Amino acid sequence: ETQIVWLRRDLRMADNPALFAAASQGPVVCVYVLDDDAAGHHAYGGASRWWLHHSLESLSNSLGKRNAKLILRRGDAVEELCKVAEEVGAKTVHANRHYEPWWRKAQGKLSDKLDLQLYDGIYLYPAGHITTGSGSQYKIYTPFYKAMRQQFPPRDVVPEPDTLSSPETWPASDNLADWELLPTRPDWSGGLADFWQVGEEAAHQRLSEWEEDVSDYEDRRNLPSQDGSSRLSPSLHFGEIGPVQIWDALKHKRSDGWQSYESELVWRDYAANVICQFPAYARENYREDYDQLKWRDPDTDEKAARDLKKWQEGKTGYPIVDAGMRQLYQTGWMHNRVRMITASFLIKHLLIDWRKGEEWFWDCLCDADYGSNSVNWQWNAGTGVDSNMFVRIMAPLTQSEKFDAASYIREYVPELADLDAPYIHDPEEHGCLPKAYPPKMIAHKAGRERAMDAYKAMKDG
Ligand code: FAD
Repeated sequence: ETQIVWLRRDLRMADNPALFAAASQGPVVCVYVLDDDAAGHHAYGGASRWWLHHSLESLSNSLGKRNAKLILRRGDAVEELCKVAEEVGAKTVHANRHYEPWWRKAQGKLSDKLDLQLYDGIYLYPAGHITTGSGSQYKIYTPFYKAMRQQFPPRDVVPEPDTLSSPETWPASDNLADWELLPTRPDWSGGLADFWQVGEEAAHQRLSEWEEDVSDYEDRRNLPSQDGSSRLSPSLHFGEIGPVQIWDALKHKRSDGWQSYESELVWRDYAANVICQFPAYARENYREDYDQLKWRDPDTDEKAARDLKKWQEGKTGYPIVDAGMRQLYQTGWMHNRVRMITASFLIKHLLIDWRKGEEWFWDCLCDADYGSNSVNWQWNAGTGVDSNMFVRIMAPLTQSEKFDAASYIREYVPELADLDAPYIHDPEEHGCLPKAYPPKMIAHKAGRERAMDAYKAMKDG
């Protein structure tokens, strides 16, 4: 009997437990459904759509080499899967378990209609698996990480299926190009194409390069001017490579670099655990007292709207912030340290609600991920279940100097390309502000004080 494999963020042939199980039971039909309505507010943004297009193309080619096909459908995922099942006479759908609230809902609905077999394939451990001594879920990262380390190693890597047999007839498929996932007017994707190689093979290529560099991770990960992190986040998000494969490939590296790299992979699992416990995490403050904080609202306040735009365009007058925001727009990715600096600047210096930042990142990041994005935004805002304190306000200029961001700034802010350190971190202060570059939109001290006042007013009720 024909078996259906429902693919979502697991666009790979190897270490794909759902595909492997299906292939051992009969002819296989792999289906990807573009269901923007189910995700609602979190339908993929521009950069993710660009990545998705190339990733589906790559997987389709890999399946083609095995005489198999990737069937593309658009619409309600549950309805489309039921239609495909009817067309090929299948009763069973195999899928790797996903934790976004809309996918959990769809998994529930589909299992009422067909035999849905779920597998754990896209995290180190299934969400909910790591529990406290009393069996409850961890809310804080550090004890979660420690408990997970007690359980390592994770499951074995699952091989690519030996054979993929075809059904008698293939169901109809959309043309990928008709989905118009790529931008056309204007086509802003040139910077993404220069920066990335998409697909399963490219992810493994990157991993083998990274194997050489991981031992320097601890020393280099915070330096935006260096290529000191794996840059595997979009491949991990779309599942072109899995965290278990990465863990397995790097486990022989017993260096400090590997330890801290491993702990970042665990952050990804932790984020999935958080959204499992709090499905609305990308839209709701976990700490409800922050519902009373008097944010400056770009929807009702014109000055706040202009400020948000300057932040988005990288025209704040803070070189490190602007370099980060422009890197994001040009390449669909931003260095982690700079993500923290730009997030803190929006939330604290501009006093704009973290959800406006979450939305912008969602649209611009190739690695935009419901769990990781919301967990990190709430962490930076101080509103989260485990988070930094709101009152810890990052000083962007100090951060820029401390983490030696000069060449990073020169790369992404061409107006400052002729300046050296220390001038480049704060050209205004050093009296060498080029004409083409804006002065600071708000002084650090003034931004800090406004944020502290808003915080105190919230606390005083
Ligand atoms: P590496 O340093 O090489 O880390 C390896 C992998 O571990 C990453 O690919 C990623 O999958 C995971 N990881 C690392 N740091 C984190 C973290 N803090 N939280 C969760 N997973 C992590 N990451 C996303 O994948 N998607 C997002 O939408 C996202 N939004 C963010 C928003 C903000 C405001 C901040 C501060 C961070 C966000 N991150 C997000 C986390 C982190 O910045 C990126 O995962 C990292 O920069 C990706 O680069 P890398 O692959 O080189 O990471």
